[in-house]
Amino acid sequence: MCRPETSLRTNRITFKCPMVSNTFVVCIRFHGGARQVGNVKIVLEHFGTTLCLDYGALHSRSQNISEFPKVDAVAVSHAHADHISGLPYAMRQNDGTKVFGTETSRKITGHQLEDLVKIDERENKASGAKQRFSLEEALAVKNAWTPVNYGEEVAYKDFKIRFLNAGHIPGSAITEVSCDNKTITYTGDINLEGDLNGDVPALAALKKDPEVFIIESTYGNETRDDKHSTEEKFVSVVEEAIKSGKKVFIPAFAIERIQRVAYLLDGIAGRHPDYEFYVASPSYLAIKDIAYRDLKLPNLKEVKTLPKDYDGRNTVVITTSGFCNGGISKSVFRRVVGRKDYTIILPSGYVPNDSPIKEALDKGSVTFTDYSTGESFEKTVKADIKRVKLSAHSDMNGLVKIVEAVCPSKTSRIVLVHGEEAAQTRLGEELKSRGYNVLAPALRDELQV
Ligand SMILES: [Zn+2]
Ligand SMILES: [Zn+2]
Repeated sequence: MCRPETSLRTNRITFKCPMVSNTFVVCIRFHGGARQVGNVKIVLEHFGTTLCLDYGALHSRSQNISEFPKVDAVAVSHAHADHISGLPYAMRQNDGTKVFGTETSRKITGHQLEDLVKIDERENKASGAKQRFSLEEALAVKNAWTPVNYGEEVAYKDFKIRFLNAGHIPGSAITEVSCDNKTITYTGDINLEGDLNGDVPALAALKKDPEVFIIESTYGNETRDDKHSTEEKFVSVVEEAIKSGKKVFIPAFAIERIQRVAYLLDGIAGRHPDYEFYVASPSYLAIKDIAYRDLKLPNLKEVKTLPKDYDGRNTVVITTSGFCNGGISKSVFRRVVGRKDYTIILPSGYVPNDSPIKEALDKGSVTFTDYSTGESFEKTVKADIKRVKLSAHSDMNGLVKIVEAVCPSKTSRIVLVHGEEAAQTRLGEELKSRGYNVLAPALRDELQV
């Protein structure tokens, strides 16, 4: 049960937490996604019933099962790993856990979790590490899932839940929860500019001025050119590399980013008949089939594996994963990073510290392991590495617009999640200057409504 009202532990970020009343009906507890990107688990509790908004895990395997709260139900905003990859642990903690989310999220989540099992199986052979969860546990998540259409209201005990389009990736949703005449709205990841299918956030359909508005803040300290200019820039970086006779390698994420990159390159492939354009990724094919059925890319070769001699020919290769720490990207990166005739283009603004890409950018060399001897060796980076910040998230201006659209009376408590401290501080200051009451909870902070 909730502890009585205390002010939020806010450490270095000091946004005040005002008391709304001496009594509370819903307790909100931040088990993840607080001052961090990903790992999102926000538990709402009402007289002993718990509903968790998203159920992510960290990318690394270092989390202990005790870090995963036992909950009665989960409302999933979207199927990116940082929002769903803990779901098998939710089932392990309570095998009766119910899951709610859109049907597209259900299908993509199923694919993602099964893929994690396969990755573990492959990598465990080499490292001897323990499997995160089994295929049965992954399937149990799909079976516990009640698909909910956008705009439809579904009830779970005292909670009423609605999902509205978030424009971030196919199936992504803003989650609106009502309980005891209070409304708590959570954006999930959100993109005001919309996804490749043309879906944009359904802000107008949300209840105005919820008691609590929980908003992501990934790029809360960045302003970007609009989507059109960024995409033009990306295409021109690819074409410059081609004009200078380079082969091109583009590592990208499996949902939305790789489809967008493929779509952009399909538009220019015809201008470069002496180049072959490959999208090589089993995940890309699976996700495209689930969520981008109308996406036709006749000028690209969509394959599960690359031809053996791809790097001996004029090729543009797009693969997963986005940070070259898995999938086909891992082996392509190893093969081309030390070659002057290659340009590597990262279609992402965010690069995690423990990725080979980050090592290449920071050190100018990358450490690999020799498969036959097990010994490590260094390769000097000779390929050009370029970055273009294509993004499926709103920037600071977009996030402020979203807050102003949903909370026009400025009575809501605005809660920042899914962002690092610098991003939350900048966005928080901007919102405060406009008269908003802003909180940036730390891990395990509680808020009563
Ligand atoms: Zn996320
Ligand atoms: Zn996301």
